[in-house]
Amino acid sequence: EAVFDPPAQTRRIAVANQKGGVGKTSTAVNVAAALALAGMRVLVVDMDPQGNASTALGAKHNSGDPSVYDVIEGRATIADVMQTCPEFETLQVVPASIDLSGADLELADMPDRNNLMRNALDAFLEQTSVHYDYVFVDCPPSLGLLVINAMCAVNEMLIPIQAEYYALEGLGQLINTIGLVQSNFNPELLVSTMLVTMFDRRTLLSREVYEEVKTHYPSIVLDTTIPRTVKISEAPSFGQSVISYDPRGKGAVSYREAAYELNSRSTVVLETLASRRNEN
Ligand code: ADP
Ligand code: MG
Repeated sequence: EAVFDPPAQTRRIAVANQKGGVGKTSTAVNVAAALALAGMRVLVVDMDPQGNASTALGAKHNSGDPSVYDVIEGRATIADVMQTCPEFETLQVVPASIDLSGADLELADMPDRNNLMRNALDAFLEQTSVHYDYVFVDCPPSLGLLVINAMCAVNEMLIPIQAEYYALEGLGQLINTIGLVQSNFNPELLVSTMLVTMFDRRTLLSREVYEEVKTHYPSIVLDTTIPRTVKISEAPSFGQSVISYDPRGKGAVSYREAAYELNSRSTVVLETLASRRNEN
């Protein structure tokens, strides 16, 4: 097994793409699980009312259960609502339920509405006795206030790109939104990582998508790609990551490699963030 050196500081990463079904949740959950397996301390914040990351990590998230909704509306702290994932003691999840579905509208009238998640996360990380190596925020497929909150609460964006026709369509819009958040709220925010998902090495299309992303974003896209495999889609129905559900399968192997690659870039990413902080 590969040895993972923990990052010198907590890396906070939002997994976002306004397209649905591109592998955001699978990536957040499985990269988080792979890092936890490697001994990292990881927190996953589910910000999608669908609660798919909560399901996959085995967290209770029925309507009315304490969740991220209570956190962003200031009724609870992250410590109050987070659950330890049954798979790994070092992996915690802030669950989301369908209760969150009205939040985009409800937040619109709140003071400091863009920073609700950031404030909650800052407070939690300051108070907890545990040092977290990673925080992942799984975003809904939109560019609404919940996603803006996620972008304000992190330093890094991880954008999954599905190896499909029109893979890069809509990416400009996402990059524009990130630019708006950078200039208005969070100047540090860095698109640190892109990951090509549902890759099929037998098809020319998959290879073309990878090459296109690599051409446009050479230093950002991971060398590792995630293959299309049914085990990745089955795992959540067992309340598990693919890392535990099918540890030797190619889905688990590729997500562990992606996690290793992401982690191995920690020093470079943290230095880039530090130099941005000094510029601002
Ligand atoms: P998003 O969060 O962007 O909507 P998901 O991670 O939920 O995307 O993935 C969308 C669907 O595709 C889900 O049913 C998921 O299980 C499936 N899926 C994701 N990644 C893969 C993969 N590499 N191979 C096969 N199915 C996948
Ligand atoms: Mg999702």
